[in-house]
This record gives sequence, C-alpha cells and structure tokens, in this order.
Amino acid sequence: MADIADIAAEREQLDTARAIEAARKRLTLAPVPCGHCYNCDEPVGEGAAFCDADCRDDWQVRKRLQGMA
Ligand SMILES: [Zn+2]
Repeated sequence: MADIADIAAEREQLDTARAIEAARKRLTLAPVPCGHCYNCDEPVGEGAAFCDADCRDDWQVRKRLQGMA
C-alpha cells in the first residue's frame, strides 16, 4: 500500500516529466542562434536567438500564425 512518501515521489516524477516536455516544446519553437535577434535584428549574445522574452514571444506568435496560414 502506498504511503505519503511514495505518493509524493510519484507526483514529483510526474511534474518533472511535464517540465521536460514543456522545455522540449519551447526548444522546438526556438530558431538556431545566429548572433542577431530573430525578431528585431538587434545583435544578441552567443547562444541567444532573441534579445528578450518579448521578442521571443512576438516571433513565436508570428511563427504559429505562419504555420496556420
Ligand atoms: Zn529583439
């Protein structure tokens, strides 16, 4: 019979799996970093595809709309 610790551990695993899945979905929506923001063309740091979260969100919304068109 499951006790509270077992239930908590199971619950934690479920949350972790969900977090990983969400992170994967975010990754597939991010373009390969090229040194410039994909949204506004500003120079960005190495490994970054956007200058900030707003630009990323804008780009993702546009990308989704394009996908639907
Ligand atoms: Zn930008």
